[in-house]
Amino acid sequence: IDKFDKGMEKTRKSFSDKLNELFAGFREVDEDFFDDLEEVLISADVGFDMTIAISDVLREEMRLKPARTGEQVKNLIVETLVDIYEKGQIGLPTIKENPDGLTVVLFVGVNGVGKTTTIGKYAHKLKSEGKKVLLAAGDTFRAGAIEQLEVWGERVGVDVVTSDAKSDPASVVFDALKKGSTEHYDYLLVDTAGRLQNKVNLMKELEKINRIIHREIPGGAAETLLVLDATTGQNALIQAKQFKETTDVTGLILTKLDGTAKGGVILAIRQEMEIPVKFVGLGEGMNDLQVFDPEQYIYGLVK
Ligand code: GDP
Repeated sequence: IDKFDKGMEKTRKSFSDKLNELFAGFREVDEDFFDDLEEVLISADVGFDMTIAISDVLREEMRLKPARTGEQVKNLIVETLVDIYEKGQIGLPTIKENPDGLTVVLFVGVNGVGKTTTIGKYAHKLKSEGKKVLLAAGDTFRAGAIEQLEVWGERVGVDVVTSDAKSDPASVVFDALKKGSTEHYDYLLVDTAGRLQNKVNLMKELEKINRIIHREIPGGAAETLLVLDATTGQNALIQAKQFKETTDVTGLILTKLDGTAKGGVILAIRQEMEIPVKFVGLGEGMNDLQVFDPEQYIYGLVK
């Protein structure tokens, strides 16, 4: 918990400082108040649509029950954030495991967002839960990606299936699936090349990988997780939309939450994407990946 609190420090500070400032001079909820509140939300990267949604709910609530103290209005804002976030999402997001054998998880995302690091951290997490984990170095495009995954494999003590650079990522995945099935691994985590600048190639590559997985595993990959860099704020949202057009993303991972005041972007993504944030990255170490808990996150924002 405390790691999460610490990781959220910058986002919280920027958000709650402004919110507290807004309430320091609180007299009543009028149009000026809404203007100021919208400014606070926008500047926290909550996103325009989410900001308007919160504003609308709040207006309606205030119309029903006009007389409130500043503290009550503040609580109302938090409740509204939680409500909007949790619409349609029950409980903590978990990974859909394959009950009959190998659970395959695909990782997608552009270079530099922290994809390889996230796979390493996730492998460590699974291993510490007693799972047998295999990694597939499917990013054969970016120079150094294969070695980097090997380093993580060594660090956390899990096996890595590789091939030569520039070879067909689908063949690496094929080899990894064979090994994963015959040697009874629980999880196969697949790194992929996130070439968003060439969407057609990206789509073809992911389609081919998915076809091969389907051939080996009924139902195909359990999850396709899109890794996004929180420090890029609204750009992360744009990337999410672009990836959603090319592949069937089932969950999001937001990295580098520790280095940014733009953590509010989680709310914007939730509002616009209808894809749950499953994990957040809170640092570069192997223990710095956490299951994302929306309530903890939102209460952490305004604490
Ligand atoms: P990839 O190109 O998407 O595979 O990105 P990498 O995994 O190589 O990560 C890029 C950089 O971001 C590396 O220096 C990582 O250590 C760093 N990084 C990844 N995740 C996090 C995180 O959650 N917090 C911080 N502070 N740095 C991170």
